[in-house]
This record gives sequence, structure tokens and C-alpha cells, in this order.
Amino acid sequence: MRTSHHIPDEMLLAYAAGSAPEAWSLIVATHLSLCSDCRAVVGNTEQIGGELLDSLTPETLSEDAFDLLMREIDSQAGKQELPKAPSTQIPSVLPEPLRSYVGGDLHALKWRRLGKGAFHIPIATKDQSAQARLLKVPAGNPVPMHGHNGEELTLVLTGSFTTHQGKFQRGDIEAADDSVEHMPVAGPEEDCICLAVTDAPLKFKSLGARLVQPFIGI
Ligand SMILES: [Zn+2]
Repeated sequence: MRTSHHIPDEMLLAYAAGSAPEAWSLIVATHLSLCSDCRAVVGNTEQIGGELLDSLTPETLSEDAFDLLMREIDSQAGKQELPKAPSTQIPSVLPEPLRSYVGGDLHALKWRRLGKGAFHIPIATKDQSAQARLLKVPAGNPVPMHGHNGEELTLVLTGSFTTHQGKFQRGDIEAADDSVEHMPVAGPEEDCICLAVTDAPLKFKSLGARLVQPFIGI
């Protein structure tokens, strides 16, 4: 299945440059495990970035530099094929590096109750600026309507969810910020497990959700 929703360009570039904080790097790297398109972009960025930055003088290092770099990366996309994983490998549900962060594949997870049948597992990172967590929403159930005080990236690992922006399946990334209010609804096929990274608390509409928020740290 081909991934259709990707990491925002700015985040991918920060990751390639090694400047993305740990929680964001975790979700980018986990998406890269599932997405050959973004792997190619990062591969090309690392290759071209050095050469291009070398050629830039302080005078030319303007706001255009980012656009120039992204154009160059686009023109190189697809030229470099990365090696594929051997087909004899037993497929894991949780790709690396996420699997190592949570201590194993799905069977190793110790879920904590969130209410309304949903569960979560906060993931420890040294990065204090953002919070990473696994979320499990029962098949067919909604996440309560909420807005955002900052950035949120959500990567689908099992099942799917749908928002006004469309359907998100395994490998897809949903990017939301303070301009977005949404109520993702898990698809009916199976429980939806996601990796979510946020850099600020969510803004829930319902009083019930707001009351439990301080206790669960979302
Ligand atoms: Zn991608």
C-alpha cells in the first residue's frame, strides 16, 4: 500500500539536517520506515544539502534558499532507489525506531486507559519540547472534537481514521496545527493504533474531556 499523506517538507528537512528534536525525529524516522517517497527525499537532501550549502554565500542564503533546496530535491526524487527489506523478514506492526522506544512489538505494549474505550502509552524522550505517545482508538469510534495549541503529527500504524481531510491509513501522517479543529473517527476494520507527537496540550470541546486532561497529560 502506498502512503498518501507525508511529513511536511520543513520537518523532513529539519530531520535530514539533524536539527529536529527527539520526539519529532522519532515520528519522522518511523514514517520513513513505511514510506519510500520520504526516504528518497531525505536521501537526496543529505546528498545535495552539503553541496548546495557549500555553494551558498551569506548574501545568497536568503528565504529563497529553502525553495531552491526543495526544488533541487524534487528534481532528484526517484533517481536514488534505496535497498528494500528482505522479503523473508517477519513483518512487524511497529516499525523501527518506534519498536525499540516502546520495548517490543504490539504484544509487549502495556496500554493505559484513557476512557471511552481508548488507550495510550506515553513514550519517554529526552526532548522536553514535545510529547510522543501511542494511541489506540476502538474500531468505529471517534476521538472527541478538539483543537490544538501547537503542532501535532499523527502516524497511523494499524487500522485507519478519517477526518475532513480524508482517510489516513498505515504509514500516513496527519499534520495539524492551531488552525485545525478535528474529530478523527477510527475506521470499522480494526482498532486504530497511532503514534502522535504534540508540542502543546490539545483543546477539547467537551467538559468531560477537559476535566480528565490534566490527569492523562494530553
Ligand atoms: Zn512519506
